[in-house]
Amino acid sequence: MRVHLGVDSTDSLTKGMCTTYLGMILVRRLLELGVHFVDYPNLIRLNPNIPYKTRGNGAVALRIDVLERKIEKVFTTARETVEEMAVFSDPQTNPGIALLKGDVPDVLHEFYERALHRLLQVEDAYTAAEKVGARLHGYKNRRGVIGALASIGEPLKRDHTYELLTYREERNWGKKRCINPETVIKMDKKIGEVFFNYDYEESTICIAPHTVCPVLMGIRGETAESVKEAASMVDTGEPISAYVIYRTNQHTSFHFEKVSSVSDITDYSSIVLEGKVVRNPFAIQGGHIFFEIENKGRIFCAAFEPTKKFRDTVRNLIIGDFVRVYGGVQPGSKDKMRAVNLERLDIIEVKTSAYANPQCSRCGKSMTSKGKEKGFECKRCKIKKRNKELIHITRNISAGTYEPPPSAWRHLYKMRARKRTNAGKKIALIEGWIQSGNA
Ligand SMILES: [Zn+2]
Repeated sequence: MRVHLGVDSTDSLTKGMCTTYLGMILVRRLLELGVHFVDYPNLIRLNPNIPYKTRGNGAVALRIDVLERKIEKVFTTARETVEEMAVFSDPQTNPGIALLKGDVPDVLHEFYERALHRLLQVEDAYTAAEKVGARLHGYKNRRGVIGALASIGEPLKRDHTYELLTYREERNWGKKRCINPETVIKMDKKIGEVFFNYDYEESTICIAPHTVCPVLMGIRGETAESVKEAASMVDTGEPISAYVIYRTNQHTSFHFEKVSSVSDITDYSSIVLEGKVVRNPFAIQGGHIFFEIENKGRIFCAAFEPTKKFRDTVRNLIIGDFVRVYGGVQPGSKDKMRAVNLERLDIIEVKTSAYANPQCSRCGKSMTSKGKEKGFECKRCKIKKRNKELIHITRNISAGTYEPPPSAWRHLYKMRARKRTNAGKKIALIEGWIQSGNA
């Protein structure tokens, strides 16, 4: 019988663990039970803007065929693994498990869509679970059941990518990672179907997290074969205890929703919106750049400090430019402006001319207004002109698509360089999709 098992919110930003690591251990235990995996383990990223995510807001879904009489054992194994490994001491860690028998119904896919775009409540998960006959098990405030159930609802039939995650030996958890960047660059240049390995702008590797978690590195790409080959080329500087290849919604930009005006924006969603710049960019403390756009209402857009040189483009916008912004909407608060946190910027039209005080035809200086409706005059030459004139503005930005450097990308962000889609690709597990060693 087909069974889907979802797990979420087991990790901690400060105290380690990683839901993908727990997922890998769970895969190993289920394989020992004799279940058959019909897909790679799925790593499903959910709404990146929610305030109480543990880290990348990623849940794990496992899809297996198992004898009916063993299903109870599958669920018990999931519970035992979570109880043994999840970081219960972190207030943000609120584990959840979901189990669904049979095919993934459309209504569950809709629940996933909501978990990707909106801020859901624990009750929403129980309501959806009841509708589709899924079983939930939550710990502490049970928030993890949302992601656990939602991850089952994304069978990745549309676009998807792969990530091979390698894990450190336990004695190395929390220690500095010593991956050789030269080997990462070499791998990145050799294997065409992998991406997000090295940030050439910021001269830093992107494959290693900066956290205390068990992950040593993650290699992302278009196929399982490519991430496996690429991983073998990296000098990791320490032994690998295990690895597993996940199939994932990372780098699909599924989190973005087009909205047609500012009034249609929902807080915590990720939007695509067109608008006219109505306030020139300004910097706030910390090196963050803000500007304001208008489209049946106004909203600030922000390029935060980690977006680095992307801010140089943003800084050069002026009132009158026409743009399309992509990003997550953070609600306003006492000390924070409501803003779109920019992940990408399309400059559709740059303003290259403006009506301004006319120039003197003798000395070339800008004329002074003599008051409303009274025309203009050059104070020096006493030459008069009636109307403002169209002046050319020299700009150092042009229409086009701009994005932050890789180190600032979100997991779900589909970068400009990634043109393809893997929608509808047949899924076949390759030899060695998991190597769990003695982890
Ligand atoms: Zn003059």
